Amino acid sequence: GFNCGIVGLPNVGKSTIFNALTSAGAESANYPFCTIDPNVGIVQVPDPRLQQLAEIVNPERILPTTIEFLDIAGLVKGASQGEGLGNQFLGHIRSVDAIVHVVRCFDDENVVHVSGSVDPIRDIEIIKTELALADLDTVEKKFQRVEKQSKSGDRKIKDEADFYSRVKSALEKGAAVTGLAENVDERLWMRDLHLLTDKPVLYVANVAEDDLAGNHPFVALVRELAAGEGAKVVTICGRIEAEISELEGEEKQVFLNEMGLAESGLDQLIRSGYELLGLITYFTAGVKEVRAWTITRGTKAPQAAGVIHSDFEKGFIRAEVIAFADYLASGGETGAKEKGLMRLEGKEYVVQDGDVMHFRFNV
Ligand code: GDP
Repeated sequence: GFNCGIVGLPNVGKSTIFNALTSAGAESANYPFCTIDPNVGIVQVPDPRLQQLAEIVNPERILPTTIEFLDIAGLVKGASQGEGLGNQFLGHIRSVDAIVHVVRCFDDENVVHVSGSVDPIRDIEIIKTELALADLDTVEKKFQRVEKQSKSGDRKIKDEADFYSRVKSALEKGAAVTGLAENVDERLWMRDLHLLTDKPVLYVANVAEDDLAGNHPFVALVRELAAGEGAKVVTICGRIEAEISELEGEEKQVFLNEMGLAESGLDQLIRSGYELLGLITYFTAGVKEVRAWTITRGTKAPQAAGVIHSDFEKGFIRAEVIAFADYLASGGETGAKEKGLMRLEGKEYVVQDGDVMHFRFNV
């Protein structure tokens, strides 16, 4: 599966948000270094389209798709130099596909701030610096190894060393490494470095209850910084999300209405994480089940079928596809067929978000 790692300084609300996401109820303590191993949670991706399909099909069950979140606690200033079990945490971050960076934008004198005051930009810079220092270490080691080999005069090895040298100077300047790789070889070398600063990032501004609706100056600062990086910001209040996560169905809706919110911050966060990972959803809709399936944007029909079962991919013949909007407007498969809105697609078809699919395959 695909996953997002939740990072941020201690006491910014990571565990609160993670627990609300998973409703797992793991320890949330008011002091640094409380959790050592990353907690992993599998989270359902909210998608109102499932309910709409179910109303047409009346299935026995509805199965949403999921993504994984990891609570990566313990990242502190000096982590890249081994402070506060630092290297261990950086290792956990290396394993995730995308980063959800939680930033404290709430003031609360009862909650200790590791640096003594609430200052989201400073906090973001601390984390970014630690990630960049860890990357610098990685690239330097690699550079030294390859540099030695490049004495042999091999052109390709020389190119590789030069590339690492470029990545190194970008990191030293505090510049982004994303986009530095300019050709196929460089992209491979870059990928194999597994740099922390090369991962897609989403910021979560954790605000006080009263600041959810308004635009707190702290949030505006985070937005500005994020915009400079082309990153998205989701504003949520961890405390409230913890309460919302204990409600269900109508109760939840009533609470959200009272708060003047269209959907919970967590639902927004999950969907944004899904987007950040470059993921889209296609559906299967039958009387047994209506189900959402996750694929990477750009996946072709046989590989999309393979997500259900490897036999579907191996024996793929064709796919019957109805776009979600057509399916809905036609009142289901039969109606869509009558209107000629069901397409037969082959091996080269790139599956679109919301496609309702039926696969034909040989066994
Ligand atoms: P972590 O160290 O980043 O995982 O932070 P925690 O989730 O453990 O939260 C640290 C403290 O901040 C806890 O006492 C939480 O109850 C509190 N906290 C988390 N979110 C909020 C919030 O939105 N508002 C306020 N006032 N406190 C919060």
